[in-house]
Formats: sequence, C-alpha cells, structure tokens
Amino acid sequence: MRDDFPEKDKQTLAKRVGMLCSNPNCSKPTVGPRDDPTKAVSIGVAAHITAASPQGPRCNASLSEAERCSIENGIWLCQNCGKLVDNDDGRYTIELLRSWKKQAEGMALRGVETNSSFLHSSGANLSKEYKLLPIVHAEQPNPGQAHLFCFHLQNQGTATADLIQIKVKTSEVGLPYFSREFWRMGPNHVPYSFETEGSINPGIDKRIFQVGFQQDPDAFVFEFEISARDGFPQQWTAKFSRDESRKFMRKAADRMEERHT
Ligand SMILES: [Zn+2]
Repeated sequence: MRDDFPEKDKQTLAKRVGMLCSNPNCSKPTVGPRDDPTKAVSIGVAAHITAASPQGPRCNASLSEAERCSIENGIWLCQNCGKLVDNDDGRYTIELLRSWKKQAEGMALRGVETNSSFLHSSGANLSKEYKLLPIVHAEQPNPGQAHLFCFHLQNQGTATADLIQIKVKTSEVGLPYFSREFWRMGPNHVPYSFETEGSINPGIDKRIFQVGFQQDPDAFVFEFEISARDGFPQQWTAKFSRDESRKFMRKAADRMEERHT
C-alpha cells in the first residue's frame, strides 16, 4: 500500500471514526497504551479507497493524483482489514468501502452526540449481528386491482432485530393492507411507515404488508429505508416491470439493489 496521505489527514481520518476500524464487521480499536506510560500504540492505517498508484487495487484512472491523495479517498482501517481490502478488490469494492466509511463516521457521530455508552464499550458494532432484507413479490391481484405486491422482511443475521422501522415509497398510488398482529402503521400515505411491536429472530421472514394498485403503469419502483436498534438506515430499491408483475414472480432480496447514498 502506498502511503501518501499527509500525517494530518491520517489523524483526521482516524478521529472521524473514533479511532475504530471502519470495517463494520471488525470495528476494532486502533489505538491503545504502550508499555511505556508516555507512549501509545497504533495499529490503524489510512487505506486508499481508490488506489494511489495505477497498478494498485480499485484503481480509478479517471482520478487525478491529487484526488487519489485527498482525504476524501481515504478510509481508516486496522492493519488486518487494510491488508484484506487491498488483497481482494473484487470483494472490497469502491462502493463497499465508501459505505463502510459513511457508516463508521455515522457511528462515531452518534457516539459523541448521545449518551449511549455501548457504542463505545468494546468497539463492537452491534448492528452487524442482524441483517434485515426486504423481500417483495408480486401476487395474483384481487378483483378491482391491476397489480398486487407482498412485502416481507427477513432477518438473515445471527441476532434478533427489534425496534425496527421501515419507510416505503412507491412510484404509484397504492392501497396497503398490513399485518396488524405485528406491525404498527404510521400515516396512511406515501411514504408508508411501519414499526414493529415485536422482534424478528434470525432466520425469520415476517410479512409486513401487501399493497394493491388500480393503476397499470409500465413499471413499479419501491424504495425502502430500514433501520433497527442502533443500526443505521439501510436503503433498498426494488423494481418490477408490468410484465414481471403479471408473472407473479418472487423477487428475492439478493436481487434487490442496495443503495448507498
Ligand atoms: Zn479491522
């Protein structure tokens, strides 16, 4: 890894994420005490999101050298994660690293803004333990409807998710009908918003609501914003063409687009 961020920028990158590794599955503290009581040890690195050199990982030739060396192009990681992301740039893409950076800065901001001590307790990012994925599928419409979609939320993580909040925007005007036993619905207009009254355990798929449309447009677009507990909102988009809807297909979450905005 070429190391050409100015020292001042490295310090800033580290501080902006509370000196924790920005990989949400790691979140390891990168500084600590040395045996010498006057010194500290650091295992953090200012890694490049887009490589500093043309042969490096995630090279984006359209950036100038100044852009590649700018703080915007840096992400604070522990040494392990720094090595990991540079050795596998197929998995650790520019988009993924940008989303890590944004999430880590968001965590750090919440840490300084709130009194929530567990954010700092071990450096662990609790939000990694659950993984909420929206699943949308088209269904046979009811009489008087041109299209009908059913929305589920699946927890693919390892921990129970609670205090879940969902916002859904659609490109069309809909008539939602929701699962009253589990979800509390906010105002009955777009964006529809929902909150859980219960929790979703790992491996569980909960039905949120279904929405019927009298309109028959060329395409339907659904935008989700989902958050739970201390996690940051995740945004998803699902698109169906008119034909896809008429085939009543199931749209798996892994075919949805995760948006990093
Ligand atoms: Zn790490």
